[in-house]
Amino acid sequence: MVIKITRTEKPKEIPKDDLALGFGKVFSDHMFLMDYESLSWSNPRIIPYGPISMDPASMCLHYGQEIFEGLKAYHGKDDGIYLFRPRKNIERMNRSAKRLMMPELDPDMVIDALKELVLLDKDWIPTTEGCSLYIRPTMIAMDPFLGVRPSNTYLFFIITGPVAAYYAEGFNPVSIYTADKYVRAVRGGVGDAKTAGNYAASLAAQMDAKKQGYSQVLWLDAIERRYVEEVGTMNIMFKIAGEVITAPLKGSILPGITRDSVITLLKSWNVPVSERPLSIDEIMEASDKGTLEEVFGTGTAAIISPVKEIAYKDKKIQVGDGKTGPLAQKIYDTLLAIQYGKGEDPYGWCMRIDK
Ligand SMILES: *Cc1c(COP(=O)(O)O)cnc(C)c1O
Repeated sequence: MVIKITRTEKPKEIPKDDLALGFGKVFSDHMFLMDYESLSWSNPRIIPYGPISMDPASMCLHYGQEIFEGLKAYHGKDDGIYLFRPRKNIERMNRSAKRLMMPELDPDMVIDALKELVLLDKDWIPTTEGCSLYIRPTMIAMDPFLGVRPSNTYLFFIITGPVAAYYAEGFNPVSIYTADKYVRAVRGGVGDAKTAGNYAASLAAQMDAKKQGYSQVLWLDAIERRYVEEVGTMNIMFKIAGEVITAPLKGSILPGITRDSVITLLKSWNVPVSERPLSIDEIMEASDKGTLEEVFGTGTAAIISPVKEIAYKDKKIQVGDGKTGPLAQKIYDTLLAIQYGKGEDPYGWCMRIDK
């Protein structure tokens, strides 16, 4: 694949203070685009970052054929530039594409696009450990048409932007609120696809949680409203009496790559880990018995997000001693060491792209 590159004539100023970057607010100089029409992808190009124009009847705007991914580039071992398990993101994007009746991507083509784009904007990759260049591949339906059917034309684009480490000043365990009025997704729906509508649908519950002083929503299954599924936009794990329990991949939760990495690490450490339905009652009971040891979310952005408090109906429980648990800390430290080249990478998760 030959990518046509048009460099910007007005490079932006690269922020100097990595820790003040926040998340998702700053974008680099270039973006990758490619079009789908007549059943194939064409015109791969990198151009200056900026607005894209589209017909107001573009189908993505009306019927939600949109999918995306999130991954990171960072300075790792031997000062190389790395991506973390990028093929997993592409595989997942292709599964999301299938579910939404959108065209699949050639994984090698996307890897090439990621490499070219990230290397062109490599000065935008923060050098502070834990900070990274966040990468957002996205696909949208482009037919100008009002009526519900799969679009025939699509735009695939990749934008990037430098982000700070989530925990610039150490972990900040969060309080979470169990949604009782709303559900996120139901089996057979699109909960296991990374598609825009899932996030729009989550906002009302998120606002309820915020209003009551909680930072994230704990989602229960949509049918019995008993089994824990995810927290905010992360997968969630509970350590009860020595065993780590997380929801099984049965169609309503997003198959997180961090989730998969954490399960792999836990197994290698001989920590019992089980992917099974876990009810909120079992969690409340464990709390009563004093066996609820740790709770944490997993996702690319934060890697690990420890939970200190869970509200359910009129009850509020504290997790462990309200501080980050030793297992959450160990997982976080290990994943960070793998990514930033301070430790071994026994599973070959880091892909070097600068040589
Ligand atoms: C992206 C996402 C996750 C986490 O996936 P990672 O691959 O670990 O980043 C979990 N849940 C939802 C709803 C997500 O959108």
